[in-house]
Amino acid sequence: SQKTDTCQQPPKADISVKHVILVLSGKGGVGKSTVSVNLSYALASHGYQTGLLDLDIHGPSIAKMLGIENLKLQALGNKMMPVKVTGSLKVVSMALLLNTTDSPIVWRGPMKAAAIKQFLGDVDWGDLDYLVVDLPPGTGDEALNIVQFAPNVEGAVIVTTPQDVAVLDSTKAIKFVEMMDLPVLGIIENMSGMVCPHCGEVVDLFGKGGGEKVAAQYNVPFLGSIPIDIEMRKAGDEGRPFIVKRTSEKNPTRDAVDKVME
Ligand code: ADP
Repeated sequence: SQKTDTCQQPPKADISVKHVILVLSGKGGVGKSTVSVNLSYALASHGYQTGLLDLDIHGPSIAKMLGIENLKLQALGNKMMPVKVTGSLKVVSMALLLNTTDSPIVWRGPMKAAAIKQFLGDVDWGDLDYLVVDLPPGTGDEALNIVQFAPNVEGAVIVTTPQDVAVLDSTKAIKFVEMMDLPVLGIIENMSGMVCPHCGEVVDLFGKGGGEKVAAQYNVPFLGSIPIDIEMRKAGDEGRPFIVKRTSEKNPTRDAVDKVME
């Protein structure tokens, strides 16, 4: 009947994508955007048509991490054109819409929901194999909206540091994903140990093993750990993702990142 029709879920956005992967964390600053950028690059370099959608509306950092913060989304007809980073990687972020980098976005939930719907349905993404969605920390509106509007949501990758507070918050993210009836694709422990550049000793700055423990506790896959590495930080600030900064030197962080992104 008409009544039951109006009770149904809102229609999914009109976007052609085979797999939507959410990147979530319980806390900010744990490396969620870093993982999103490197994961997108890894998928694109395997030849998959990949989109990266930065939904950290209040603190978008993807554009800076990709060195495209001076570019803007263009309109073509009634569609927005994403910024093309490589032949197979396209990016959309709030930072690519705004003319200033230092003004806060002051939006309530409904405006964010409208923007998220447009970032999916009104962007000319083409046919995507993967859409990686970098969400703000926590389990707020943006995460709910994307699950509601995006088709083919495959599940979520959860990023944490080994620190107790981060691990505790990541359990909330795990439970949130399960409440959405989605699988947790895996946990990544970032900033897991730091190699002292002077003596080579590993310092477990934020503790160790928290990500693996929480993965075992909730029976979800553990994808691996990424150490703290000055090169990772530099890569983010310089706008050249770590994964594309190939050097011939043997580097344990590179091995760790490659393993995690596999
Ligand atoms: P989030 O998206 O969770 O807020 P970011 O990815 O923005 O976190 O990371 C926060 C900061 O830490 C960034 O400056 C980033 O370059 C840096 N960073 C992330 N992971 C590492 C790492 N493994 N080693 C060194 N710096 C890192």
